[in-house]
Amino acid sequence: MYLKHKTAAFFALLIFILLGYIFYKALKPPVPVVIQAGHEGRTCGNTGAVCKNYKEVEWNIYVADEAAKILRKWGIEVKRVPADTAPIRANIAVAIHFDSAKHVCRSGASVGYPDTNASRTFAQHWKAVYKPYFPFHWHKDNFTDNLKHYYAYRTIHAKKFLVLELGEITCEKQTRWLKPRLKKIAHLVAYAVARELGVKVKSVQ
Ligand SMILES: [Zn+2]
Repeated sequence: MYLKHKTAAFFALLIFILLGYIFYKALKPPVPVVIQAGHEGRTCGNTGAVCKNYKEVEWNIYVADEAAKILRKWGIEVKRVPADTAPIRANIAVAIHFDSAKHVCRSGASVGYPDTNASRTFAQHWKAVYKPYFPFHWHKDNFTDNLKHYYAYRTIHAKKFLVLELGEITCEKQTRWLKPRLKKIAHLVAYAVARELGVKVKSVQ
């Protein structure tokens, strides 16, 4: 009898702790900004495009780090995450990528997002920033399934989520243009995110 009570008390405590944890997770406020470097940390599977001396993942990390640094300088809290991450809630999430193409130079920039008004509107704001700057081809929004159903939509739960393809890494004409401008592009990403949060920052156009 005594043992039975003890076991019952133990399980009651376990359930109590579990419920507490679930409530804690649910009530914890979302992170203002999550920036993901596409493919970062992957050693197999989809590790990103590689072309000549350029590795997409390295460019993704560079741009994601720079954008995070600028946002923090502006007083905005940022969580920088790799390709695979534990579930997290955020106000804004941005995944950084560069595209590759079988027929080189047929691709360019594009944007993907979940099918919500908030993300769709954010995407239009991003295009208003990057389209006048990026001089190559733009695809229509969500032009691939990978953009439309990006795997991290299920782990990073963001009110507004954009997957940015910032250019084509398999096109020499584009890499020649992109490489010296990666820092500026990171700045544009940070600028668009800050504006979306309602933080007033100087235009970087
Ligand atoms: Zn990618």
